Parts: sequence; structure tokens; C-alpha cells
Amino acid sequence: MKLHYLGTGASEGFPAVYCECDVCERALQSGGNNIKRRSSVLINDRILMDVSPDLYMQKLKFGLQLARVESVVVTHADEDHFDVFSLMLRGKPNYCTIHYDRGGTRQVQVYGNQTVESLFYWGVKKKLRGYQEQLAYQRVEPFRAFEASGMVFTPLIANHRVDELCYIYMIEQGGKRVLYANDTDAIEERNYEAIRGLHFDLVSMDCARGILPGDGHMGLAENVEMKRKLEQYGCVNENTRYLLTHISHMCGMTHDELAIEAGKYGFELAYDGLILEL
Ligand SMILES: [Zn+2]
Ligand SMILES: [Zn+2]
Repeated sequence: MKLHYLGTGASEGFPAVYCECDVCERALQSGGNNIKRRSSVLINDRILMDVSPDLYMQKLKFGLQLARVESVVVTHADEDHFDVFSLMLRGKPNYCTIHYDRGGTRQVQVYGNQTVESLFYWGVKKKLRGYQEQLAYQRVEPFRAFEASGMVFTPLIANHRVDELCYIYMIEQGGKRVLYANDTDAIEERNYEAIRGLHFDLVSMDCARGILPGDGHMGLAENVEMKRKLEQYGCVNENTRYLLTHISHMCGMTHDELAIEAGKYGFELAYDGLILEL
């Protein structure tokens, strides 16, 4: 399984779009991993996990062949995770010539919850009138596994918003298993019950709160608690890798600074462009 982190920042970007705070200034001056686009991961070059408003710049920065993406799996409807306009550009033939004989996808399958579904059809109605054959939507339900581009995804229930059933995902392929857990605060017990005894090779966690307490996103304290719960449920061992993502300037630390704190707990900070082969 190949995971390519395209963005590892929170909704405001890092440095944040309009922000002049000390942390954003330090991030800007230091550059490199301290620059974080809005969160998204490309899996096996074929599956896009969330549509970031930075998708276009991610394509340019990392040389992505997005015509080959077959599936889009969405965590929730917040703008930093489901940029409807970027997705709808895939639908209109005059915006988008696809070479099917060179690996281009005929119809992209989009998977997500009911709120994302409403946004999807709003986008189709507004932007694609009559050209929607390039995109199809499939609503997915909590704890019900589905297959997308040769991988198995199981939506678990995030703790992120009261007005939307947001998902985190268990992702499985070829004996490898990943927990992709953002955006979320500490998750409910029933999620752990659903994955009891399943071994995870990688746990990717929301750490938007950094050294601050969780508030719809996790911070390091909630990350440590999630690791403890996963140990309790027999889901992880010494070979499991932990990556933190969806990082925000709000806790007062840049990537380089927070990476030192995270390292004390055995966690690594993901960065834009990071490629993992499991
Ligand atoms: Zn977010
Ligand atoms: Zn800032």
C-alpha cells in the first residue's frame, strides 16, 4: 500500500491564509516541512482521500496524474476536506480531456456520508448540468465495509461535529491495515469494539490541537490516549507506526517544533509530500 500525504495542515493552511502571528511567520521563514497545505492523502495513486482546496497546487507541486484517480473517499463535508469546485472540474469535458487508453478513469466513484452527498449533488446541479457521467456518488454507512479500487474501507465514527456524521476510516489491502483518523477528537468506545484484535501497521492521527486539549480535533494528549486504547484492544504493537497530521498554527508551534514534542511519545509528524510504502 502506498500512501502519499498531499497536505498535512488544518483548514486555515499553515501559515494560515491571512495570519501574521509569530508561528506563521516562523513557518514561512523556515519553509520546508513547516509549510502545510490542506489535508489529503493519495493512496496507490488511484484513491484520493478527501478533496483539498489545495488540490490544484498539490498536483503542480508533486506532479500528480489525477486523471488516473478512480475513487474519492471523503471524511466529511468541511471545506478543507471536500472542495466541491475542485471535484466538479473532473466532470466537464471542456475542462478535462481524459486518455482512457493511457490509464485515465472513465467514471470516478465518490464515497462519503449523507452531508457530502448533498454537497456533491449541489455541485453537479450548479456546475455539471448534463455532464455528470464522469462522476458517481455512493453513500457509505458506519461500520459497513466497502471496496474501492482494490482496497477495503470501513467508515468509523469521528467525534468532530454535532450536525454531521463524520467518518474516520480503516483501510485494508494485501494484509496491511491503516487507521486514518482525522478530523476527530477522542472517538467513542464502539469504534474500538469494531476493530478489536485487528492489527494496524499505521495509525494516522489528527493533531490539530498540538499541545492544547482536544476540542473537535485531537491534541497530543488525545493521541496518547488513542494509542493506549488501541493497545488495550490489541490493535497495535511495537511495529506500528504513528503519524500526526492536520497540524494548525493555533497551538503556537511550527512543524519542526511540534515534531520534537511528538517524538517524546513515539509519534512522527507527517509532512506534505511524505510517501509511505507499507
Ligand atoms: Zn479539517
Ligand atoms: Zn498564524
